[in-house]
Amino acid sequence: MSNVDGLSVCLSFDFDAVSLWIGSMRQQSPSAVSRGEYGLVGARRILDLLARHSIPATFFIPGHTIDSFPDACRAVVDGGHEVGHHNYCHENPGAVTAEEERIAVERGIASITRLTGTGPEGFRSPAWDHSEATVGLLLANGFSYDSSLMAADFEPYWARQDDVVSAEGPFVPGPRVPIVELPVDWALDDWPYFGLNWQRHHVGLRSPSDVYETWSAEFDYALANHPGGVFTLTMHPQIIGRGSRVMMLERLIEHMSAAPGVRFETMGAVARRWREAHPFEA
Ligand SMILES: [Zn+2]
Repeated sequence: MSNVDGLSVCLSFDFDAVSLWIGSMRQQSPSAVSRGEYGLVGARRILDLLARHSIPATFFIPGHTIDSFPDACRAVVDGGHEVGHHNYCHENPGAVTAEEERIAVERGIASITRLTGTGPEGFRSPAWDHSEATVGLLLANGFSYDSSLMAADFEPYWARQDDVVSAEGPFVPGPRVPIVELPVDWALDDWPYFGLNWQRHHVGLRSPSDVYETWSAEFDYALANHPGGVFTLTMHPQIIGRGSRVMMLERLIEHMSAAPGVRFETMGAVARRWREAHPFEA
């Protein structure tokens, strides 16, 4: 973002609660559900932390979480945070039919509108997976930005539609569309580090100090090399909400706050400013 110096920091929280276990993990046992319900404990700690530091954040909340835990979601809104879209019951666009995806997007918008009084500006795909229809659905429903793709790290870019992807010929990017992509990365997501899933090569339960080392180094690099860029962390209340991890996040917030030119902003605010500085040309 060449019109402003310094670095924007977006703390984003995917408030999946139970929906992720039902929707993506296909697990409905009381034990799995309780792991999602723990997100309510984590969300309270995160809201306290953000309030202590006067930081506005972005919470991507599935409609299922809004309809199941309205008080916890009301607390997010009352804290002054942005609410973004994360489908209805954590439907992965790559794993549902086009019709199911359309319904998930519309139901998610309805739940957010009931909660906040207005539709969402931003979308984050569950599991960061797009189907071929996803960007079209975002355009049709008036979204301003998406935060699911990974073709850059600290610089927003315009999303595209209809890329030609084939093993038989070269990759041909499709036309750009007026949706700001605020890129993400698994290295800046709490789940791969901390989320236990019992798979041999993906165990989780890393030490908070390991994660601090990586996240603070990524931040330091972005600050030194991407003036006007945006540093986005993706976290989940049910993962980052454990005490030792909240303490790590607070230490990181203090490190970032001490750097000159750093602004904590919602993703919607960053997308709006980037859009103004980069008039869309098809
Ligand atoms: Zn999620």
